[in-house]
Amino acid sequence: MAKLLYVPNPLLRQKADKIQSVGTNEIEVAKKMMQIMLKAPGVGLAANQIGILKQIVTIFFVNQETKKETQYTLFNPNIISYSQEKIVMEEGCLSIPEQFAEIERPQNIIVEYLDENNKLIKKEVSGVESRILQHEIDHLSGKLFIDYLSSLKRNIMLKKVQKYLKNKNNE
Ligand SMILES: [Zn+2]
Repeated sequence: MAKLLYVPNPLLRQKADKIQSVGTNEIEVAKKMMQIMLKAPGVGLAANQIGILKQIVTIFFVNQETKKETQYTLFNPNIISYSQEKIVMEEGCLSIPEQFAEIERPQNIIVEYLDENNKLIKKEVSGVESRILQHEIDHLSGKLFIDYLSSLKRNIMLKKVQKYLKNKNNE
């Protein structure tokens, strides 16, 4: 049974492999990821986070103003361009429970990916969606949001996670 991995699990630091083509196996993984992400709950998940080294990302968020829900899966996502403008937003990660930090990233991106029908999609995203995708696509190359922080801050967070997990396991 697939479940969420937490730092410092080494699988979170590995690169996920490109998918040849999206088949029943990949769709099955994506379904499982959606379940785990929605249950957590989280706004995004990369396959590395459940120990599967395939380039799959799931995303779910609700627009605060319009209440519109956005939910989809990206296979082999690739960011092909970044805006000059950068923006600071608070980030957290299901693999780094209870920790949050302000991170600066490009505001808009153009992302390319395969959908579940192997159709190549190219779209420009901004706001929260852009932020979630940049964070999740980082996961696929073994990168975590804490890598953007100083090593001092990063180590404090990692220690706090160990403490949190220890307490959780003792409950
Ligand atoms: Zn994450």
